[in-house]
Amino acid sequence: MLLIRGAMLPDFETGTTTQADVLIRDGRFAAIAPHLEADCPIVEASGLLMLPGMADLHTHMVQSLTQGPLDDLNITQWLTRMLQAQWSLTEDEWYYGVLLGCLRSIRYGVTAINEMTYYPHIDAVVQAYQDAGLRVTFGIGATDIAENDQIRVTPVDECLRQAEELYHKWHGRGLLRTAAVPQGRPACTPELMRALKQFARERGLLYHTHLAEGKAETERIRAWTGRGEAEELAHLGVLDESTILAHSIWLTQEEITLLAQSHAVVAHCPSTNMKLSDGAPPIAELLASGARVGFGCDGEASSANRDLLREARLGSYLQKVRTLDPTVLPAGQCYAMLTEQGMRALGYRDVGRIAEGWQADFSLVRTETLCTVNRRRILTNLLYAGSGEQIDSVYVQGRPLLRNGQFVHHDLEHILQRCEEITARIERTLA
Ligand SMILES: [Zn+2]
Repeated sequence: MLLIRGAMLPDFETGTTTQADVLIRDGRFAAIAPHLEADCPIVEASGLLMLPGMADLHTHMVQSLTQGPLDDLNITQWLTRMLQAQWSLTEDEWYYGVLLGCLRSIRYGVTAINEMTYYPHIDAVVQAYQDAGLRVTFGIGATDIAENDQIRVTPVDECLRQAEELYHKWHGRGLLRTAAVPQGRPACTPELMRALKQFARERGLLYHTHLAEGKAETERIRAWTGRGEAEELAHLGVLDESTILAHSIWLTQEEITLLAQSHAVVAHCPSTNMKLSDGAPPIAELLASGARVGFGCDGEASSANRDLLREARLGSYLQKVRTLDPTVLPAGQCYAMLTEQGMRALGYRDVGRIAEGWQADFSLVRTETLCTVNRRRILTNLLYAGSGEQIDSVYVQGRPLLRNGQFVHHDLEHILQRCEEITARIERTLA
């Protein structure tokens, strides 16, 4: 048991907070009341904001090692060099890269990620997820069309074998879940897109892919098929409530309606969209049509960022300026997308809210350094002027992963030192 005493609990609809004590038992919120007594360890949280755990809906964690040398390149150079760097990694380097990415997510209050990873050294990748301690839904990014000479294509049968291997070894083990993960229609034949969806449906798994990220790729799909990319995915029968679509930028109005009707979830990754000049996705229109949307930090080779709160701020601002409408993507909606709605997109029905009976994923956030004298409005201020740097402690199922800004189970200095050596080696490889 654990008692969190005197934290500020948020109400995202009103934008206000209420002070309360929260008792955690067996990994769940057991009681919430103004004053609780319990014979157990106590965390004094007066002045701290308690946020539900956040869900990052689109990640490539190994790219924590390729942040930097790929900045400000055109998209062709970016993809080629990113893959060159990625394929040069040893098993040990994969482990440290993925671990660092996961720890950075935890540092910023993320307790669940949706990860597209790659096959070589998959055991080391999974070891890193487990050692990090957060919830991970993951799959091998499958591709059977070579977009450039660095792409490693895999036949449909082998992609299915890999997905099956992952499913049997790790699905449901601890906090791990596996998914079916085709990289996207520009990199996958209709056979592969369909086969992985069938695989996912038969096992009740998520289906995670990229959609309409680049204008040129989307035009290529239209030239191949006569359909927009979302229309093509609907035609292939792969859109439903268990499908997560990263980016979703180049959509027609008909495709926006189609995505809303399918109940598929769009993972909005604004840093990547802006930094790679992909374009600004029609998130305001998607939300107005009733589509489900969450946020993702993507890989750091493109976004340079694992701070999901900052990502939500950028996403909100991008839509406000795109539509010339300051009412779109308000703070309360951003928080709901970051927490309960994001967790629901990943299939968690009892994670992402601080309420009795729900799983105890949460963070404690320092508020004394926020840029405001209005204590009643710290939620909007945290989103619009703060950052994940304000997060002090992070718990998953009531288990602390970060406390007082320090990782409980990891020596960050050692991990950073190892990763610095690896990135220096990558820079030499790319030179
Ligand atoms: Zn991606």
